[in-house]
Amino acid sequence: MDKHQKIRSFVAPVVFLVVWGGLLWYRSQTRMEFYNSGYQETMGTFVQITVAAQGQRQAQRFFAAAFAEIDKVNRTMNDWDPNSEISQLTQTAHLSPVTVSPELFEIIAASVEYSKLSDGAFDITVGPETQLWRQMQQTHQQPSPEVLMAARAKVGYEKLTLDPEKRTVRFAVEGMKLDVGAIAKGYAVDRATEALKQQGAVSGMVDLSGNVRCFGKGITPNGLWLIGLQNPRKTDTVLLKLHLNDMSVATSGDYERYVEVDGKKHSHILNPKTSESVGELPSVTIIAPTAMQADALSTTVSVLGKEKGLALIESIPCAAAIVTTAAEPEKPIQTSGATQFIFSNN
Ligand code: AMP
Ligand code: MG
Repeated sequence: MDKHQKIRSFVAPVVFLVVWGGLLWYRSQTRMEFYNSGYQETMGTFVQITVAAQGQRQAQRFFAAAFAEIDKVNRTMNDWDPNSEISQLTQTAHLSPVTVSPELFEIIAASVEYSKLSDGAFDITVGPETQLWRQMQQTHQQPSPEVLMAARAKVGYEKLTLDPEKRTVRFAVEGMKLDVGAIAKGYAVDRATEALKQQGAVSGMVDLSGNVRCFGKGITPNGLWLIGLQNPRKTDTVLLKLHLNDMSVATSGDYERYVEVDGKKHSHILNPKTSESVGELPSVTIIAPTAMQADALSTTVSVLGKEKGLALIESIPCAAAIVTTAAEPEKPIQTSGATQFIFSNN
């Protein structure tokens, strides 16, 4: 073996090892896997995030950014907390216009749009009435007609004055109360999704108590996100499965939160004009581009009922609805736009 042959026989394996090792290192750095946060408690319920990441450390960074956003929304919008921004607003907005944070203004302004769209079926000024519903949870007694009427006098989105330039909110009547329970979870899911994307996540799913938004390639082998819709009358079974990509889905229902008084169930969704709980649709699922849209619209359709609700969703581009009726709770009815998202029946 001459000198050159000796060098070649030594160098070739070294080069091979370096290249091979480099490739392995590169693969370990670039290989995407899905990570799941597990259930975390927030906003009076649970959130779960799934995200594709290049390792546990990156996934934890993604989770931390998303949870920080949800916590921020919770701190601002939690009307159970007397120190939250929304509670502070409620205490003083009848005296003079109150300047609020961009986040709170965004949610109130969007809510007013949904009120206009639904002729007041969706209304975050429903607070005085939901307050009575919450009391009913404790007392198991219905409020008197007089008490209900007094609450209704403080309800109505037209009693809100918003100034987008100054970012102020003013109440026309003392005792008004905002309840953003029908829209804030969706909003939080959107904020969390934005945070994930800003951190560099390319695919993931945020699920906050049935308010779901997914983006990028899904977790199933064919790259879809599959979401099962619960059967409202047999909650351990699914009615059908949806496949989504870069979409959101939200379900409002009468089967998880209700109060029973004298054998009658009173759902937590109220018709603001009558103070009565709605009961026509055991479940309403909306598919829409953002989680806030899906959340607000699912509550809206619950109040409007089948005819008006489905007609409203048909009129909104990019939105689809799947509802079940009290008469046939296990037979889903859908708008024309929903078919494309149905993966299978149960
Ligand atoms: P969701 O589960 O998204 O349908 O929201 C239901 C929650 O929204 C209730 O628990 C109340 O806090 C609030 N809410 C009830 N009725 C209405 C309504 N008509 N418009 C807006 N929010 C409502
Ligand atoms: Mg909602």
